[in-house]
This record gives sequence, C-alpha cells and structure tokens, in this order.
Amino acid sequence: MKRALCWVRRDLRLHDHYALSEALKSADEVYIAFVFDNLILDKLHSKIDPRVTMIVDSLKEMEKTLNLHSSSLIIAYGNPTEEIPKIMKEHNIDALFFNRDYEPYAKTRDEKVQKTMLDLGLSVFTFKDHVFYEKNEILNGSQEIYKVFTPYKNKWLETFRSQEEHIPLYNCLLKKLAPFKNSKSILSHNWMQVIGFQETPAVLVAGSSAALQRLKDFEEYIDNYKEARDIPALEQTSNLSSYIRLGNLSIRDMIRLSVEKDNSGYQTWLSEIIWRDFYHVILDAYPLVEKKCFRPEYDKIKWLGSSKDFERWCEGNTGYPLVDAAMRCLNLTGMMHNRLRMVVASFLTKTLLIDWRLGEKYFAEKLLDYDLAANNGGWQWSASTGVDAQPYFRIFNPYNQSEKFDPKGIFIRQWCPELKGFSDKSIHSPHDTEVDEQFIAGCFIGKDYPHPIVGYKQQRERALSMYKAVK
Ligand SMILES: Cc1cc2nc3c(=O)[nH]c(=O)nc-3n(C[C@H](O)[C@H](O)[C@H](O)COP(=O)(O)OP(=O)(O)OC[C@H]3O[C@@H](n4cnc5c(N)ncnc54)[C@H](O)[C@@H]3O)c2cc1C
Repeated sequence: MKRALCWVRRDLRLHDHYALSEALKSADEVYIAFVFDNLILDKLHSKIDPRVTMIVDSLKEMEKTLNLHSSSLIIAYGNPTEEIPKIMKEHNIDALFFNRDYEPYAKTRDEKVQKTMLDLGLSVFTFKDHVFYEKNEILNGSQEIYKVFTPYKNKWLETFRSQEEHIPLYNCLLKKLAPFKNSKSILSHNWMQVIGFQETPAVLVAGSSAALQRLKDFEEYIDNYKEARDIPALEQTSNLSSYIRLGNLSIRDMIRLSVEKDNSGYQTWLSEIIWRDFYHVILDAYPLVEKKCFRPEYDKIKWLGSSKDFERWCEGNTGYPLVDAAMRCLNLTGMMHNRLRMVVASFLTKTLLIDWRLGEKYFAEKLLDYDLAANNGGWQWSASTGVDAQPYFRIFNPYNQSEKFDPKGIFIRQWCPELKGFSDKSIHSPHDTEVDEQFIAGCFIGKDYPHPIVGYKQQRERALSMYKAVK
C-alpha cells in the first residue's frame, strides 16, 4: 500500500500505538490526523476547559517529534465522518488505520466512516489498543460476558498469565512518515481560537513524556498501594487516569509496570486496571447503560431529593465536611480521589436521594479524567443500579468514612479551611460541638460553615424504602 492515514483520537502518543505501528509496517508513507470533533466540543458547557488544553498540548508534543522526521500532523475541525474522507481524498490516501473506541457515539461515528471508506473503495483497519482485553475475549463457561467482577478478574488473570511474557509492544518506527509540512500546524496556528475555546493554565502537564515520567515516579509508591490507596491525604495513587484517558501512555505501559513484582501493592493496582477493562466491556456490550440503569427495576425509583440539595452538593456546601472537601477539590482541580468519588456518589444517591444520572453528568463536566465507561460504572456501582454493584442496603455512613479515611482531617482542612481550628475528632461532624468549641475553633456552624442539609439517619431509612419500593 502506498499511503496510509492513522487517525488518532484518544490515543495521543507516538509509542506503543497499535494502529500507527501497523500503518507504518504496511504503507510506504504514513500520515497522522486528528479531528477536533465539533459534535463533542459543542456539548461542553464551558469554553474554558482544561481537558481541551490537555488535548492541544498532547498534539503539540506529537507535532514536535513529527517535525524531527520532516513530517507533521494533519489537523481538522468539524464532523469526523466528513473530515476524514476529505483528508483521504486530498492526500490521495489508500487506507485508514485507527484504534477502536467503545463509547456509543464513537462506535456510530466510526461505523459511518468505515462505510464511507468502503463506498470509496478504500481500506479500513481497526485495532484493539485502548484496553487490554475487549469484547468477547474474556467469557464465562456459557460463552457469555461476565456481569460480576471477581470471576471476570480471575478469568482475565488466567488468560493473561497464559500469555504474560507477550504483553505486546507495538513499536512505531517513524521512518516512513509522509514528508509533509502543515501550514496550519498545531504549533503555528491558533486552533484553540478556531474551535472556540480559551487556553487554561495546565492542571497537569500533558503529553507522553509527562505520563511516562509519572508512571516511573509511581514505582516509589506502588509497593504500598494496597494500604495507601484509600487515604486521599497521602496522594499515593498513580494519578495516571487523565493520561490514559487521552492515551498519552498505553494500557500496556501500565500493565508492564503492574507485573514487575508479585506483591499485594502491584496485584491490587493491576486489579484496578482490570476494573477499567471490565467497565469498557460492559459499556460496549450494553450501550443502554449510558442512559438507563443496568438493572431495569431501578429505573422505576422515584428519587425523592431536591434540586436545592443537588446544588449544595455541587458547590460543596452540604455540612458534611468530607463530602464538601471532595466536591470543592473537584471544582477547583478537576480531580477527585477514588475513595472520595465513592463517598460523594453514595451520599448523593443514598443520603440526598438524588438520581445518579445527575451526579454522573456533573462529574462528566468537571473530571479531568472523565471516561464514560469508568464514570458510568462507578456511578451505577455506588447507586446499586449497575453490574456487580454493591447491594442497595449498603449505604456509606459519611461520618464513619471520614473518620476512617481522613482520620486526622488533613484532607478536610486542605479544602474546607474554615474548619481548620476543630480538633481531629470534631472535624468530621463539627455541628455536634458546643458553641464554646466553635468559638475556640473560630468557626460558627450555621454562620461560617453550614449545618448538615439533611440528617443522615432519617435519610438512610428513606433511602431503604425508596429502593425497596421497586424491588
Ligand atoms: C463515581 C465514580 C466515578 C468515576 N469516574 C471515573 C472517570 O470518569 N474516569 C476514570 O478514569 N475513572 C473514574 N472512576 C474510577 C477511579 O475513581 C479513577 O480511575 C481513579 O480515581 C483515578 O486515579 P488514579 O489514576 O490515581 O488511579 P489508580 O488508583 O492509580 O488506578 C490505576 C488506573 O486504574 C484505573 N482505575 C482505577 N480504579 C478504577 C475503577 N474503579 N474503575 C475503572 N477504572 C479504574 C484508572 O485508569 C486508573 O488510572 C470513577 C469512580 C467512581 C466511584
């Protein structure tokens, strides 16, 4: 084949990239294109979005490397189902290569592009790159997709161990890149302006070098991951989710680290990566989960919560310190620790009695690492409506969670500074303190920090009846 196009989407890197590696092997000249998809961008509420900055910065890093090989990225803005065929025609390209995506919108888009290619008599090759195992690679004894995580994980590990020494590494020898100079390159042209977004200060340094460095830095903590991963104040998880979301590193990069040693830290970390595969398989096989409960009976729930309480949850003004600290952290940084995601999701659904879909949508707007499969999976798990979800009667007690996972209130003090003066014991429920203690702490409950907007115990009973009513 003479010319191939590698269309990059959520795989913004030039190493260990399956589609790119195959394109480079198969064609004499390879072009690489990225399309700013107006259908996705138009849905983003704020035009100041650090995720868009991260995409642009990742592309800039790629472009710098391509320039060293006298090549360049092709950048376009519009509907990819029109833009990709246009690029193919303009550069007289014979074949299209891309890595598969499992989100419903992306699947429809990719099918359309594939059909157009076939109509034009051009070839299309797609690859599994974004996850380690996809679709029907991990099946149960009845040849069906697993709907419970632990047996899925066991089968995943069994399959993996039988081929462990072959974690594929898709080398990308950049010698066959098409010699080409883009007059509207990502480095020279103001694409942010074209797509109608404003640059934001970087929350994380984007790109593969930063992602691989972070992976390396995480080696220092991974031995203790099993114990440390639940304590937000320690910040000892990998923080790689925003990078894997954009594909600045490959899932194989992560898995190669996870098997370097065989201790509980490494094993637990691999297990989290397997959750990611699991949720992608579920979203791919059951796209309806994007809008509906995986367990249909829960779509009949009459959610009793109020829009006012939802607002207070979003702002981090519920009067529950750990919940508020977590939400304020999300609002300011776009990040939230996994334990806190579980705490605030359980709190929204089972204490404030608000539909998980509202929380999921809010996370989708704010999270730097937003990923439909993992976010939907996490929300439906917390709300007990999903595959292998926790039972509906398991309701996190926000006070116990706070005492257990932020025992000294370090995280709370960081994000709710008005509570700084309370003792390590009182900081989890400051409204229970006497006025004298509030005076000494320099914070009056009801004035400087809210009273709890709802009572946990009463709401727990209401939640149980709300769920029971549809069982
Ligand atoms: C309500 C809720 C919403 C969530 N939304 C998202 C989301 O939008 N995007 C996202 O990437 N993760 C989401 N998660 C999963 C998890 O919270 C994040 O992946 C994790 O906090 C990222 O931090 P880390 O990179 O330090 O993870 P680590 O603890 O270092 O884990 C390594 C990697 O494994 C994957 N991972 C870890 N835990 C999970 C999990 N429970 N489910 C799926 N993958 C996992 C991530 O890719 C992560 O980077 C959500 C969880 C919940 C409970």
